[in-house]
Amino acid sequence: MVEWSIGRAAAGLGLSLAIAWAGYRLKALSHSGAVGAILIGTLIMGIGGWLWGWLLVAFFVSSSVLSRYRSADKAAVQVEFAKGGRRDGGQVLANGGLGAILALCSAVIGAWWAFPAYLGAMAAVNADTWATELGVLSRRAPRLITTGRPVPPGTSGGVTALGLVAALAGGLFIGLAAWVGQWIASFVGVSWPPGITWWPLWAAAGGVAGALFDSLLGATVQGVYYCERCRKETERSFHHCGTRTRRLRGWAWLNNDWVNFLSSLAGGLIAMELAIWFR
Ligand SMILES: [Zn+2]
Repeated sequence: MVEWSIGRAAAGLGLSLAIAWAGYRLKALSHSGAVGAILIGTLIMGIGGWLWGWLLVAFFVSSSVLSRYRSADKAAVQVEFAKGGRRDGGQVLANGGLGAILALCSAVIGAWWAFPAYLGAMAAVNADTWATELGVLSRRAPRLITTGRPVPPGTSGGVTALGLVAALAGGLFIGLAAWVGQWIASFVGVSWPPGITWWPLWAAAGGVAGALFDSLLGATVQGVYYCERCRKETERSFHHCGTRTRRLRGWAWLNNDWVNFLSSLAGGLIAMELAIWFR
């Protein structure tokens, strides 16, 4: 059972304010994104505890660094994505909403599986970000995950070998970050929790599962649009050229934020399932 206190909530709020402020200043978060980060961060850190918050920081720092990496080379492709490098409120909720729900499960009903699920969910979110940021740099054309047909870079549901390796690395990174956090905490007397040996494995599996599910949804049911003027596929219902686009396939409500939320759910379920097996 995770104990809850006013002190922990205050620490969570303080750290969230610091991250939101830094993210806003670094242009990694929009105005609504900063507000969302304060809300989600306070819930996850204030209720879940320090290790939960540590993973949030690991995700935020690594994805912000990667989005800056070779940003000029990526700009041409990323303009077709639903949203730019600056996360807005919807994206923050899509990335961290499940984490906040799991933190509540852990605190309110004392669910032991909530942490492995959170590890998998954050791994999926991180894997997807790494795959997106690094996959677009692939020199080989992406292939649609469903048919294997080569598609232009930036197409929803397109995967590259580089992107899949990046997804694996992104998931593993979260698992290793959890290890490092726990190792540092052991110096101040925090005991090692059971199952910790497997954390990187659960996170890697959750990360890859989340990224594959993300691509599968992108290739099948995600809303994909077409700009008649630029003759281009896009995730935007309004193209950046100012033209209202036409829906080509998929469900209109299933936008990028929902796809990200559902991928984090897939990653969380896989990691939780593994945790139950290995128990
Ligand atoms: Zn256009």
